[in-house]
Amino acid sequence: MKPSAQPARAAGAPRALGGLLPFLRPYRGRLLLATLFLVLAAAATLLFPVALRGLIDTALSSSGNVRSQQLSERFGLLFLVAVGLGLFSAARFYLVSWLGERVTADLRQAVYAHVLEQSPEFFETTPTGEVLSRLTTDTTLVQTVIGSSLSMGLRNAVMGLGALVMLVWTNPYVMVQVGLLILLVVLPAMGFGRRVRKLSRASQDRIADTSALAAERLDAIAVVQSFTAQAREAARFEAATEQAFQTAAQRSRSRALLVAFVIIASSALLLWALYQGSQAVLAGRISAGQLGQTVFYTLILAGAVAVLGEVYGDLLRAAGATERLMELLSAQSPISSPPDPLPAHSPAGGSRIALQAVTFHYPSRPGTAALQEVTLEVEAGETIALVGASGAGKSTLFQLLLRCYDPGQGQILLDGQPIQRLALDDLRQRIGIVPQDAVLFSGTALDNIRYGRPEASDAEVKQAARAAFAHDFIEALPDGYASFLGERGVRLSGGQRQRIAIARALLKNPPLLLLDEATSALDAESEHMVQAALSAAMRDRTTLVIAHRLSTVQQADRIIVLDQGRIVEQGRHESLMAAGGIYARMATLQLMP
Ligand code: ADP
Repeated sequence: MKPSAQPARAAGAPRALGGLLPFLRPYRGRLLLATLFLVLAAAATLLFPVALRGLIDTALSSSGNVRSQQLSERFGLLFLVAVGLGLFSAARFYLVSWLGERVTADLRQAVYAHVLEQSPEFFETTPTGEVLSRLTTDTTLVQTVIGSSLSMGLRNAVMGLGALVMLVWTNPYVMVQVGLLILLVVLPAMGFGRRVRKLSRASQDRIADTSALAAERLDAIAVVQSFTAQAREAARFEAATEQAFQTAAQRSRSRALLVAFVIIASSALLLWALYQGSQAVLAGRISAGQLGQTVFYTLILAGAVAVLGEVYGDLLRAAGATERLMELLSAQSPISSPPDPLPAHSPAGGSRIALQAVTFHYPSRPGTAALQEVTLEVEAGETIALVGASGAGKSTLFQLLLRCYDPGQGQILLDGQPIQRLALDDLRQRIGIVPQDAVLFSGTALDNIRYGRPEASDAEVKQAARAAFAHDFIEALPDGYASFLGERGVRLSGGQRQRIAIARALLKNPPLLLLDEATSALDAESEHMVQAALSAAMRDRTTLVIAHRLSTVQQADRIIVLDQGRIVEQGRHESLMAAGGIYARMATLQLMP
């Protein structure tokens, strides 16, 4: 994770869970209602012992008809209390579970939406598998806590407190002692708890690590299998899951100790009260009914303490998960829209670009400049071919134009406006990009092309496909435009994927197009089609193309030769050939990386 997200790590359990408050706030009404039902249910439970005492002391000790009538009244009353308890509990259960599900859904949505806004720098340090793990396992933990543990905890806290009050009220003498004993239970439990929270955080982190590992390897399954590395990868995953298991086992041990301690301590509490009570009955200080009532309250109190111990453990686990989610939510993207962006506009006929002494270092490589003092003016409608050895900085130039990163020095103007002064959406709306490896999403051909402009009509999609020479092959697919292309478009050939990517960019109709020509060899037919599609794409707009083919370079208005982050030559094919520099050498050897 990013250093900016560190401070949350030091926070204690309650503070970590405090991060959830903004998510609960919109549902204050329901929360209040749930609390109301909770208190009502607790009150009903607490009425039981009172009714019980009445039953023992009055009904059982009086005689004859009076007794049987009182008895049935008493039982009727008890049943009413039970009905109330059932209804209030059901209402509380529903409301609280609803809250748990709702808050979890909101949290998931918020985290995902936030992560989508992050710049490439974030993804360099945070694997997507880890993000997915946070979105699923961490949020599920939070849901368990809000949807069940928290309500259990609150119910038991209210009941425990109620029982305590009733005990003090009916039996002050025993209570002072019980109060002291409770402190003896609670304080050590908190100590255990801290350890559980740390281990919980650690075990969630281990799970995220394994997910990240698996996601990356499955993403490149063909590579894994081609190096027959399945066994190695399985072993690596095993080691990672094993570590996750060890951490979880350690956490469970701590928690088991906590449970044992709480149960033993609260039983001691109960027995102590019972012992004192029996002494009091024997000494004639209290009645048998009073003892029954006291025992009942003490039972409730002991049960509440035991449950609270469990819940405390759950809360601590959730605190670890919440901490991590809050870190994701607080990650600040270094790239954002300015507060007062310049008005959006989209010039017809292509954009003008100006790079003014742009120097840029990747954040992870501050020592070497990926681009150095690059100055370049591109006229509207011009086609520029970027050539240079691999690593020369061609893709970096694209990344800077798209504001994936901001340059360290110098600035970039689009149609005379500094791109940092434009709203990010506006900037990216004006730029179309066709990457080297066309990225398709699982969905139909229609969906994939329409990704470029979601509101485009079917006719517009087909027109773009025609312009990109994709129409004929799409029509020939089993379901035409409705054909499912498989995850990442695996069911298409490389050339077909590219033409769909070109159609997608054409549909967006951007004034500036960034093309990264595929290096992979295509069959002659595909090659011809892709070239034709590219030529169509370059018309009526400004195009920057990372060129790998001589034919593309020859079509360009101007060739820019990059070497180690600097522009070393520029001009048309013929003049550069005549100059006999880097370009001439590359072209003669057909070396277009
Ligand atoms: P080209 O597209 O010309 O092959 P790039 O623009 O991709 O070259 O890379 C220029 C330099 O920046 C290379 O030295 C490369 O290793 C480095 N580089 C590219 N991407 C990153 C990154 N995300 N983090 C750090 N260095 C990078």
